[in-house]
Amino acid sequence: MTQTYKALVASRQDGKLAVGFEQLNAAEIGEGDVEIAVEYSTLNYKDGLAMSDAVPIVQKEKLILGIDMAGTVVSSDNSLFSVGDKVVLNGYGASETHNGGYTQRLRTKGEYLVKLPAGISTRQAMAIGTAGYTAMLSVMRLERFGVVPESGVVLVTGASGGVGTVAISLLSALGYRVTASTGRVEETEFLKGLGATDVINRAELSEPGEMMQSTRWAAAVDSCGSHTLANVIAQLSYSGVVTACGLAQGLDLPGNMMPFALRNVSLLGVDSVHAPMPLREEAWRRLAKDLDMAKLEALTMDIPFDDVPAAAGKILQGQIRGRAVVKIAD
Ligand code: NDP
Repeated sequence: MTQTYKALVASRQDGKLAVGFEQLNAAEIGEGDVEIAVEYSTLNYKDGLAMSDAVPIVQKEKLILGIDMAGTVVSSDNSLFSVGDKVVLNGYGASETHNGGYTQRLRTKGEYLVKLPAGISTRQAMAIGTAGYTAMLSVMRLERFGVVPESGVVLVTGASGGVGTVAISLLSALGYRVTASTGRVEETEFLKGLGATDVINRAELSEPGEMMQSTRWAAAVDSCGSHTLANVIAQLSYSGVVTACGLAQGLDLPGNMMPFALRNVSLLGVDSVHAPMPLREEAWRRLAKDLDMAKLEALTMDIPFDDVPAAAGKILQGQIRGRAVVKIAD
């Protein structure tokens, strides 16, 4: 009998995106020089967007969904990878222009893969996932801009989400004082357990604000965009800096340039999808060194593979706390 592999597939029919499980054969699991037995994937906000088609993430007639996966190499024509290597895939167009990680078996290009550093299991890699790796890229971006724990308080918005929870854990482990901004104030103890010193209600930031406001933050990691990001910029201290990676509130940026001209502040974009390989490898090395794996476990929940389509709606409604791991196979 022909071997087949379970996969969550998106196909576009008459302009509408249909999402469902299929059994794929070896010719349908992708193209490239490395084949991986996928062990874990994850659910990110972007996976929710892809399945809802609210933003046109899927750009092919048909492909396997999932922007992340971690697993073990089972065959390789790439000299950099050997059978048995543990590897991770984040972005690089997975689930956009080529097959992603919601599949028991994936064939892809070795140039998209990072070998997992010692100390991170495939499950932990997906507990981190694109959201956690983007949190690490954000922290590294702040560091390269000269932000140090002595700079002052760092704000993390979207605090209960994937980027937010990992950013809080990382910043706290690195010695920063962190304020968490959340719409889920009932999660205050959870956020303090991850290392937040203070927790504020996101309503303080989510409405239209003044052009210049009292200074509150030396730096910030934002994943919300819209009024939240505009208010954060207006509240940065002199020479303060904020990273922007996400659009959980909205993709607009209804601000003004006064804080840039009068307070010397900086707005730094963060992209995970096309981040160059040396930066990715550094981010994964830093995650292995700086992320407290007990905290990572505390912010992680498990979702059965079969439940991914239903959970996609929940993450868009802000109903998933922290990170969600999807077990694909043992
Ligand atoms: P999550 O859904 O896990 O977290 C987003 C959090 O944002 C929510 O938990 C919620 O936190 C907060 N939030 C939700 N809705 C609103 C709203 N209307 N106003 C203000 N805050 C809101 O998503 P991720 O952490 O995975 O991703 C966050 C964003 O970052 C997404 O837009 C995602 O697409 C983007 N992203 C971008 C990447 C890149 O490469 N540029 C990579 C990874 C993510 P709380 O309940 O605590 O308020």
